[in-house]
This record gives sequence, structure tokens and C-alpha cells, in this order.
Amino acid sequence: MEAGEAKSKKAEGPPRLCCICNLRRPVLKRPKTLQQICKECFYEVFEEEIHQVTVKNHLFKSGERVAIGASGGKDSTVLAYVLSELNRRHNYGLDLFLLSIDEGITGYRDDSLETVKRNEVQYGLPLQIVSYKDLYGWTMDEIVKMIGLKNNCTFCGVFRRQALDRGAALLKVDKLVTGHNADDIAETVLLNILRGDIARLSRCTSITTGEDGPIPRCKPFKYTYEKEIVMYAYFKKLDYFSTECIYSPNAYRGFAREFIKDLERLRPKAILDIIKSGEDFRIATTTKMPEQGTCERCGYISSQKWCKACVLLEGLNRGLPKMGIGRSRAGDVNGDHHNKESKSGPSVKSIESRKQCGSLDF
Ligand code: SF4
Repeated sequence: MEAGEAKSKKAEGPPRLCCICNLRRPVLKRPKTLQQICKECFYEVFEEEIHQVTVKNHLFKSGERVAIGASGGKDSTVLAYVLSELNRRHNYGLDLFLLSIDEGITGYRDDSLETVKRNEVQYGLPLQIVSYKDLYGWTMDEIVKMIGLKNNCTFCGVFRRQALDRGAALLKVDKLVTGHNADDIAETVLLNILRGDIARLSRCTSITTGEDGPIPRCKPFKYTYEKEIVMYAYFKKLDYFSTECIYSPNAYRGFAREFIKDLERLRPKAILDIIKSGEDFRIATTTKMPEQGTCERCGYISSQKWCKACVLLEGLNRGLPKMGIGRSRAGDVNGDHHNKESKSGPSVKSIESRKQCGSLDF
């Protein structure tokens, strides 16, 4: 061996090994912890963390029927896959179902529903689809035609929230799980602060919500970073849909998302810290909170005489679509919309930064 060759070998040093198993070559740096780890260890820690969150927070009881809100996007696809695995591995004793909402968006939801139909076969989970057309008599395409692209996500988000509950009732499930991840929750904390929405701020970090409503909802990915979900889906070659909704505008949420991403780049723990701050907020007892009742028209949970969906629907049916639009905070929780990735791997940044859906619970 020549002197120069030996020197360069020495400079390179031995191949670095996975910092968990110390056996295999690392293939990724965990965004959450910055550990260099191999694929096998990544699967293990990713799944184990979700299992621990599930157990510690008592998300499920054995024998429960659980619907997974499935949009065909990466979050809900990974959720369906991981929850099926954990259910088998740890004997959760759950009956799992996929629940999808068809908003009636041509060229977007019809395509993503095809992905969910394949997931139904791949994971062996029965699928229920409920459509806006059947529930409300309107598709989003028809709504956008009438109202334009300004408040479309408000309609879509309000309608989706109820549609999920109605679908869950059809399936007779005990719980509904959604693929909200840590980034989504941090972003929602920030948005609720920016909007002074104390009622939402007080509950947006809860891992289970709606225990006083028709169907409790859980977020098993509450502490799971979006980047890791993207990597998991990519390495596992999961079949998911990665195109953005054609009606997605929501610039305000987009700014909040970009801000969170910038913070994460500087300090990855920022996401968990924002969630922690949200959890630790204490609402002053003097703050007036909305009182929950039921909608006089449809019986759905509402703090007003009519629920938001009935008000919006009335406006549409009377040709007054601005009715009910105003200081609405309805379509404010994120969606599960994705972007194209290159053959060389997922473009995490592009997926994150373009996720601007203002829809409710996917
Ligand atoms: Fe509905 Fe989301 Fe599309 Fe808005 S971006 S119209 S909330 S699916």
C-alpha cells in the first residue's frame, strides 16, 4: 500500500456504525434525536415510541372497535400500517377499520381514495367511505363553483368533522384515530395563540378529545415528527398518495408551518417544546368558554342554536354562501396532503412546506 493511500484510509476511519445496535451501517439521522441509525433500528424505535404513547395514555381498551381516519396520505397510511402491526404484536385486541371521507374533489380525492382502497386490501382492514354529496347534497367541486376559492376550506373542514363522526357512527366504533403528528399539533398551538382562540388552545394538545361528544378521537402520532413519518413510509415502501388538494390555499396556516419548520431546522426539539407549552397553558377561570349543547336542527354537538355545518349548508341552499363565514375557526386543524417525491427519496422539505390544507381532521 502506498503512503498516500494509507493516509487517506486513516483519515476516513472505520465505517461508522448505527449508534443503537453498533452492528449495521446507519442510513439516516433521526430528525428528532439526531442519532445516526440503521433502518432496522429506526423501525424499532419508531414503532416502540408509538406503542409507549398508546399504552401510557391508555388510548384503547381491549375489545374496542376503532376507525382510522384514512385520507390515503402519508400520515394516515403510516398510522393504519403501524396500528395494525402493534395491534397484532402487542395483542391490543382492537377491531380496526378504515374510514374515508369523499369530499367530491375531482382529480384529487377520487385519486387518493383509490390509494385507500388498495390499503384496504394490503392491510386487511374494512373500509367505509362517506361522501359530502350523500350527507349534505353538495360536493366540494359544486361548493367551490358557487363560492370561489376564498372560504372553501372552512366549508370543507366543518363538513369533514361531522362526516367523520357520522361515518364512525355507521361503523359503530368506540374511537376514531387520526394521523395528526407532532408538527401539526405544534402548528395548531401557534395558530390558536395567533388567533386568540382560547377554547381551542385549551384542548388542541390533548391526545384524546371529544370524550363528551359522540365519538372520542385520539392522536397516536402526537409526539411523532412528520419527517420520521415520511422516512418510515419511504423505507417501508408504503402505498400512499402524495398530491396536494387542488383547492388548497390557506396561506395563514402555511406561514405558521414555515415558521415551525424554520425553528425545527435551528433546534429540532422546538416542536416538542411548543407542544409542551400548549399542554402547560392554564386558562384563567374568568375566561368565558363556549357552552356545549346540541344543534336544534341536526342534533350534532354545538355551542350555538345551529351547528356550524347547518348554518353553512343553509347558506349554500339559499344561495347565500357567506352566511356563517366570518370569525370562523372551523377549518383550522390540519390535513394530510402530500407532495410528489423524487425517485431518489422523499423530499421531506417540500412535503412539509406545502402541507397547507385547512381541513379538520385528517
Ligand atoms: Fe378541503 Fe383540504 Fe382541499 Fe381545503 S385543502 S378544500 S380543507 S381537502
